[in-house]
Amino acid sequence: MSGKRKEEASRSAFEEAKQYIPGGVNSPVRAFKSVGLTPIYVDHAQGSRVYDIDGNSFIDYVGSWGPLIMGHAHPEVIAAVQETAAKGTSFGAPTLIETEMAKLVCERVPSIDIVRMVNSGTEATMSAIRLARGYTGRSKILKFEGSYHGHADSLLIKAGSGVATLGLPDSPGVPESVASNTITVAYNDLESVKLAFERFGEEIACVIVEPVAGNMGVVPPLPGFLEGLREITTKYGSLLIFDEVMTGFRVHLNCAQGRFGITPDLTCLGKVIGGGLPVGAYGGKREIMEKVAPSGPIYQAGTLSGNPLAMAAGFTTLKLLTPAVYDLLEERAARLEAGFVKNAKELGIPVTINRVGSMVCPFFTEGPVVNYDTAKTSDIPRFTKYFGNLIEEGVSVAPSQFEGMFVSAAHSIEDIDATIEANYNALKQL
Ligand code: PMP
Repeated sequence: MSGKRKEEASRSAFEEAKQYIPGGVNSPVRAFKSVGLTPIYVDHAQGSRVYDIDGNSFIDYVGSWGPLIMGHAHPEVIAAVQETAAKGTSFGAPTLIETEMAKLVCERVPSIDIVRMVNSGTEATMSAIRLARGYTGRSKILKFEGSYHGHADSLLIKAGSGVATLGLPDSPGVPESVASNTITVAYNDLESVKLAFERFGEEIACVIVEPVAGNMGVVPPLPGFLEGLREITTKYGSLLIFDEVMTGFRVHLNCAQGRFGITPDLTCLGKVIGGGLPVGAYGGKREIMEKVAPSGPIYQAGTLSGNPLAMAAGFTTLKLLTPAVYDLLEERAARLEAGFVKNAKELGIPVTINRVGSMVCPFFTEGPVVNYDTAKTSDIPRFTKYFGNLIEEGVSVAPSQFEGMFVSAAHSIEDIDATIEANYNALKQL
């Protein structure tokens, strides 16, 4: 897209949707409420681009909020879904592809001996928390401020992502009795974790952490942070859960745990493993996972879990993810980062760019950004204006400072360079 965004059709579609869907959307951030703009109503997407119902096209870094690491409508993924769909969409009985998929996940994810498929990241984390509680016989959990682990009650405390964007840190509807079992401390702050364990250690079932935080913008773990969590949880007999819903197969072929060389007890997956269809998974040490029904007493189930279409899309996506793809993602994302840094410098605008692999996030602050409090030092009105400018320049990113950009294997060098130019123009007009 170049020039003024056309948005009449999107505006009227949104008005109609609001009559029938709360806020007009099926997930809050899609409404563009915090940036005060009309949401982009997508007609279709291909590769690096999204095309809306007004006839605009955008170079897209939302990638369905992370899953589409190979780009939109990858021909092999689409073909796999079509072929599978022709044989029936759901059976509620085991199929061969479920074992194929589980095998591949076990091979690729160091901590996973055995894995259960679910339908979303929320289900994965919710189930992993129940398992950690059931396995340890303890009630409390520890999470980090500004991290988002889906919308299960016990995880909606001081959460990031859309919860942070809309300023709803503790959602109404979560009973105090549930909230009181969630301890929150600052990300990257091992001292606070230690203090929490000194006080509540024997009651803490698990620590759940995004090994790269991606829901307060992108915040990498400081050296020693993940190692420290591994040590403390082991010492107290508490489980370490890596929520790799966003980072899983995004930052490394063997997920963040492969990239950083730390092995958690349980891992939650989502996004990329579904290849754009609804999939989540949780897995880990055999001894712990065998406590899940029917091999053990901890209940968890799903009518559509392991759905053949979702397995086909996910399996095909994972097969496409070779080491060469991660090299390409690294190179493209580094080019984007370097361009953004140069632009900000040239224009004298304070910007801190955090990047881990293909997760990239510019914050409007001098930085450094190491946790949610420092992420919040970003000039949010400035981000909001930047976002609007970027849309006009034909680049689509998440409508929030507390989200990252996802570079995909479909972003060409030309796309990256066009994005750097768009970023320059968007910054210049601030
Ligand atoms: N965990 C993390 C780290 C996430 O980023 C998300 C979604 N953004 C979730 C859990 C929840 O996943 P879903 O939206 O699929 O329920």
